[in-house]
This record gives sequence, structure tokens and C-alpha cells, in this order.
Amino acid sequence: MNIIFLGAPGAGKGTQAEIVSKKLSIPTVSTGNIIRAALKDETEMGLKAKEYIEAGKLVPDDVVIGIIKDRLSESDCAKGFILDGFPRTIPQAKALDDMGIVIDKVIDIEVADENIAKRMSGRRVCKSCGSSYHTEYKKPAKEGVCNACGGELVRRKDDAPETVLERLKVYHEETEPLKEYYASKGKLVIVEGQEEVSDTTALTLKALED
Ligand code: ADP
Ligand code: ZN
Repeated sequence: MNIIFLGAPGAGKGTQAEIVSKKLSIPTVSTGNIIRAALKDETEMGLKAKEYIEAGKLVPDDVVIGIIKDRLSESDCAKGFILDGFPRTIPQAKALDDMGIVIDKVIDIEVADENIAKRMSGRRVCKSCGSSYHTEYKKPAKEGVCNACGGELVRRKDDAPETVLERLKVYHEETEPLKEYYASKGKLVIVEGQEEVSDTTALTLKALED
């Protein structure tokens, strides 16, 4: 099964993607995580992406399309994958089509803009492995420490309130048209994001069964 998770920044698509990934035993491919790892390692791509990410802008299509082409050609993606954070623009969606990739389902996690800022202010990520947490909705076992690797939990630079506003604007302009793109292909399912992660997961799993 090939699944796309769509949604505004901070809507919780990454969290749902990880849960479904474990359940179906297929990898999650998160362009955000791949870019952040490149940034940390100061690779050529990471350095190119830095100014965009930190300003809350999208990294250019050709860069992310290249990332996705490489990643999806790896053997672990052969029996299915979950895309988290890709596509984010119509040209990116068309690139997937051109690669001959058939998407089975697009799950759009909907959260009102008013609630996004609140969610983002509590978001924390692991400095070492990139796992994502929330001070209210997805607490680690020990405050400030990653469950997965023991790394330090920090706030992402692009989760600063001003940057979040810019990311939301970009989302509405560039990414939201993808809902129509996939609805017209009969692939789109809308899931209303709930306060509790487990409630959203229940809706997500149901959406995947239908
Ligand atoms: P979130 O879903 O919380 O907004 P991500 O971790 O998916 O965050 O992405 C963080 C940043 O990485 C984006 O704001 C953007 O700059 C860049 N990025 C990630 N995926 C893409 C993409 N498909 N196209 C362009 N830029 C991307
Ligand atoms: Zn970690």
C-alpha cells in the first residue's frame, strides 16, 4: 500500500504516519526528516535547503523531487511506503505520477489554523534521531529526553511563532490545492485531527480500511 499523509504543519501527520508505518510494516518517508538530517550533516543539499527551511518556505521542487526519487528506489519501499510531507505542491504530485507511482490513499489530517499555533508551541524534537514529541499531547517518558534514543528534546527553529505563520500561509497557497488534485482521482480521505493522538489514530485506521 502506498499512502500519502497531507495536512498543515503541526496537524500531526508525522505522528499518524509513524503509527501506521509500524502497523503495516512499511517505511515512512519524511522529506522534512531527510532534509533536517542533511542540514545537521551539512551536506551540499542540506546547505542549499537551510535558508528555505529556516524562513518557513518550501525547499525548491527539483531538490525534494530528487530526494524522493532516490529514497523510493531503495529496496525497503518495494512493498509499500508512507509519504509524510511529500508532495507539498502540484508539480511534486505530478512528479510522483511521472515516476509511475500509484498512490492508494491520501489521508488529509485537518486541524483549524487557530489550533495549529498552540500545537506548534508545544512541539519538541529529538536532537539526535529526529523523533517528534509534544509537551501536552505526546509526552516522552522522561521530560526533555527522547524515548527512542535518549537524546535531548529541543524546539525546532522553524517552529517559532513567526515562522509558523509563514508556513501556514505557504500551506494554504501551495499544498492545499493537492486536496482537490487527489479528490478528483478518488483518493482523498479527510480525517479531523482530535485533541488526543489515539482518537486521531482510530479515525485514520478506519479511513485506511474503507
Ligand atoms: P511540518 O510538516 O511540521 O511542517 P516537515 O518536517 O514536514 O514539517 O517540513 C519542514 C520543512 O522542510 C518545510 O517547512 C519545508 O521547508 C521543508 N520541506 C519538507 N518537505 C518538503 C517538500 N515536499 N517540499 C518542499 N519543502 C519541504
Ligand atoms: Zn531520539
